[in-house]
Amino acid sequence: MFPLFEVREQNGERKVNALSTIEKGTELCTFTGKPIDFKETLKLGNKESFAFQVDKDLYIYLDEPYRYFNHSCEPNCGITSELKMVTLKPIEKNEELRWDYSTSMLEHHWTMKCNCKKENCRKIVGDFTTLPEKLQEHYLKAGVVQKFIMNFLKK
Ligand SMILES: [Zn+2]
Repeated sequence: MFPLFEVREQNGERKVNALSTIEKGTELCTFTGKPIDFKETLKLGNKESFAFQVDKDLYIYLDEPYRYFNHSCEPNCGITSELKMVTLKPIEKNEELRWDYSTSMLEHHWTMKCNCKKENCRKIVGDFTTLPEKLQEHYLKAGVVQKFIMNFLKK
């Protein structure tokens, strides 16, 4: 079903890895899931990270395998407004595919500790507006910021 990646389990943690080398700018999949509102995300407990924000009070409770893509502060993938996952860099075979969760976050609520070990690791992952300006510009240019966030920034 997904020729370019697969979910792998390591020490009880799921991650998604590339099955081959992949060129930059490749479309990997389109995220799908059940629409839920903010209140419902609060009931998810430790599954709160499976809720992908698409509007002020609208989330998608991601289907498998989309929920298993992990966060990185220096990601090799991003999610477009059409919920397509695209590669931002050339990918090596077996490399983990990750995106920056802040590119879909503007809720003033949920944060996540990060230990992605990248040089620019922010340690705390929060709303898009908490990102350094340069990084915001980078994601906007790459087209991997959710539309409701772009609309908010224009105001
Ligand atoms: Zn990090």
